[in-house]
Amino acid sequence: MFSQFALHERLLKAVAELKFVEPTPVQVAAIPPALEGKDLRVTAQTGSGKTAAFVLPMLNRLMGDAKPRVVIRALILLPTRELAQQTLKEVERFSQFTFIKSGLITGGEDFKVQAAMLRKVPDILIGTPGRLLEQLNAGNLDLKAVEVLVLDEADRMLDMGFAEDVQRLAGECKGAHQTMLFSATSGGNGLREMVASVLKDPQHLQLNAVSQLSDGVRQQIITADHNQHKEQLVYWLLANETYQKAIIFTNTRVAADRLYGRLVAAEHKVFVLHGEKDQKDRKLAIDRLKQGGVKILVATDVAARGLDVDGLDLVINYDMPRSGDEYVHRIGRTGRAGNEGLAISLICHGDWNLMSSIERYLKQSFERRTIKELKGTYGGPKKVKASGKAVGVKKKKTDKKGDKKAVAKSPTKRKTANKPKSSLVSGDGMAPLKRKKPEAPAAE
Ligand code: AMP
Repeated sequence: MFSQFALHERLLKAVAELKFVEPTPVQVAAIPPALEGKDLRVTAQTGSGKTAAFVLPMLNRLMGDAKPRVVIRALILLPTRELAQQTLKEVERFSQFTFIKSGLITGGEDFKVQAAMLRKVPDILIGTPGRLLEQLNAGNLDLKAVEVLVLDEADRMLDMGFAEDVQRLAGECKGAHQTMLFSATSGGNGLREMVASVLKDPQHLQLNAVSQLSDGVRQQIITADHNQHKEQLVYWLLANETYQKAIIFTNTRVAADRLYGRLVAAEHKVFVLHGEKDQKDRKLAIDRLKQGGVKILVATDVAARGLDVDGLDLVINYDMPRSGDEYVHRIGRTGRAGNEGLAISLICHGDWNLMSSIERYLKQSFERRTIKELKGTYGGPKKVKASGKAVGVKKKKTDKKGDKKAVAKSPTKRKTANKPKSSLVSGDGMAPLKRKKPEAPAAE
């Protein structure tokens, strides 16, 4: 029950209006210390209800002040426009019975209109770092009186190259303030540095032990012989699975556009979202998906970030994501707020080892599924190591003296086309995953 929290009755009224009955685990863990004004570092997945976990205590604090003040009192930084827009909606829903006003500053919107909004001085400002910094540099933004600073999806902001911008904006919040940092993953060194520099003696709430991340979502793999076979499997799944809305992930824009074209040709109502789409296209795609006019979205990771669409219950990984954390983000699109979901990864020969690394990371074994009508020749490696990875065939190489040397111990050291450029280590002690070469240069 939300009444267990010492929240203002107008906030409880809004919570009741939204038909939230039970607080989610992240809300149970974060709301009490947040109400006490503590700095928090929260590791919680998108879809866990984390927005309410920081918005409710923030509003409660702002309502506590007897006399209204014409300054920006709270700042919420997020990585993408969509996420910022969704967060604004959530803040407005919770503050509907209060006098608290919120404003949004993101790229892709009119700079002068935003400046005019800033002159009216909202109590809460929500935005993406790049445009906020531009407004700051133009002298339109004063953050000195900020009392609550939230860095949401901080790991993603770092991934997107916003580290310096975030630091600069946090540095502008010069008054004594409470800071709450949320991330879906435990992140890497960049996140540790940010935590050390922006948080004071934070309480760390770890809500998503990786192995618990995907409760409520069935995770399956289907092996495929090649991309055309993957396309056939996608058609079959879209025709035969029961779902309200589906999202299909590719690793590159080119692959997203190609698959989109094929699905349109097969008369599916589908939208595509990737980094080259402008704000109007993105908004249209998301609105149509929310309203149910379109049931299928093809997307790259960057474009799908922060998407919160009810009824998204089928995720297809046409391409396997390049890291365990990315997999977790993708699967987080479904099974939100306790709903059921199904996640299916299509696995070719070259995807196997990445898939098995992700299984190890999640400490889960994905269900192996075969579609009888579309059974191909590849069914996984003939032999696997204890790690689950394929046992590679040792190649012999003749050196100058004519001695034969074994050169390919690891299956990832296969031919040049798939040679990894670098490795990346995900948070939570995940074994290094090899970065797969993107399908095309236009990778997101
Ligand atoms: P979030 O993780 O903040 O993006 O929230 C995911 C979705 O869950 C949003 O649509 C919220 O409105 C919804 N939600 C958050 N908390 C609750 C709750 N306690 N009960 C029901 N739905 C919730």
